Amino acid sequence: MTPLEIEIAGEIRANGPIGIDRFMALALGHPRHGYYMTRDPFGLAGDFVTAPEISQVFGELLGLVAAMTWQSLGEPDQVALVELGPGRGTLMADALRAAKALPGFTACLDVHFVEMSPVLQRAQAEALKDSGKHPTWHASIDSLPDDRPLIILANEFFDALPIRQFQRYQGEWRERLVGIGGDGTLALGLDRTAAQGLTLDGPDGAVFETSPISLDIMRRLAERIVVQRGLVLAIDYGYAKFSFGETLQAVRRHKFAPVLANPGEADITAHVDFAALSIAAKRGGAKVYPVLTQATLMERLGIRHRAEILKRKADDPAEVDAAIDRLAGTDSHAMGLLFKALAITSDDLGPPPAFDLTDPLLAA
Ligand code: SAH
Repeated sequence: MTPLEIEIAGEIRANGPIGIDRFMALALGHPRHGYYMTRDPFGLAGDFVTAPEISQVFGELLGLVAAMTWQSLGEPDQVALVELGPGRGTLMADALRAAKALPGFTACLDVHFVEMSPVLQRAQAEALKDSGKHPTWHASIDSLPDDRPLIILANEFFDALPIRQFQRYQGEWRERLVGIGGDGTLALGLDRTAAQGLTLDGPDGAVFETSPISLDIMRRLAERIVVQRGLVLAIDYGYAKFSFGETLQAVRRHKFAPVLANPGEADITAHVDFAALSIAAKRGGAKVYPVLTQATLMERLGIRHRAEILKRKADDPAEVDAAIDRLAGTDSHAMGLLFKALAITSDDLGPPPAFDLTDPLLAA
C-alpha cells in the first residue's frame, strides 16, 4: 500500500466511502503524496507525453492564436496570457517565442499560471527564464486579474479535474463510491441510496460520468471573459457528443494501470465531456464555437507549413514529420482525432483562428 492509500483507507474507515471525485483530488493533489505534487511526470522517463512535449510547433501555433486574439481585442495595453495546468511550462515558452512575431503583443502581456504543484511551478519558472516574462502563479482561477482582457490556454488540464460516476441500478442512479473491499484494499461499490437531482434517463448498468468542478470552472471562466473580454481555448482528449460510459483511467510509465491501485503513484484522468463544457460556457454567457478535433485545429493553423520550415533546419527531418503526424495525424496511434479543442470568446470578438461558428458538429 502507498502512504496515500493508507491515509485514504483511514478516512473511509472513519467516515464511510468517498466519491471518485474525492479519491481523484487526493490521488493527484494531496499536499504531500499527490501525484502532481511530488514529481514531474512528463516525458519518456516519466509516465506520459503531452502535445507540447512532442513538438515545439504545438505551443508556437497556440502562441500565434494568442497574438491574433490580442489583435482582435483591439491591441489592449494590458492583457493577461493565462495557462491552466502548464505542466513543465513548455507550451508557454514556445508560445511566447512565437508571439514575438507581434512585438506589440509581447510588450502588453503578463503571464499567469494556474498551478497547484510546487514541483511543476519550479519547472515552469525554469522554462520561462529566458522569455523575459516572470509568471504569476495562482492556486485557482479566482485570483486571476479582473481588470483586463484574458487569453486563457488549457492543454490537458480538464482531464485531470475530479469526476463523479453514477450507475443506473434498478431504474435509479446510484453514485459509484470508493470503499474498502474484502481483502482490505480500496474497491469500487455503489451507494446504498439513489442520487438526488439526476433526471437523466438510461438503461440499467449505464455509467454516467460528470465533472462538476470542470463545469463550474468553465462557467466561471466564461463569466469572466464576458465581463473582461477574451478567449478560452481548451484542448484535451475527450468527446464532443455525449454518451454513457466510463473513461476514468490510470497511467503509469506509459501503461494503463488499475485506477484504485497505488494512489499518488499513477496519473489518473478521465475523458473530457466537451458537450457539457460547451453548455457550461454558454450558461456563463460566452460565444461558444463548435468543437474541433486537434487534427483540424492543427491543420487549419498551418502545422504542415510550419513543419516544412522546421525541417529545413532540423538534423533529422524525419523526426519532425513523425512528431507532426502524432499531433495532427488521424490514425489510431495519433492524437488528431482523440483530442478535441473548444474555443469560447466574449461576444465582441471575431472567430479565433481555425474556429468557425458554422462548422458542423463533430460526430465523435
Ligand atoms: N498542460 C501541460 C500539463 C498537463 S498535466 C502539458 O500539456 O504538458 C496537468 C497539469 O494540470 C499539471 O501541471 C498539474 O499539476 C495541473 N493541475 C491538475 N489539477 C490541478 C488543479 N486542480 N489546480 C491547478 N492545477 C492543476
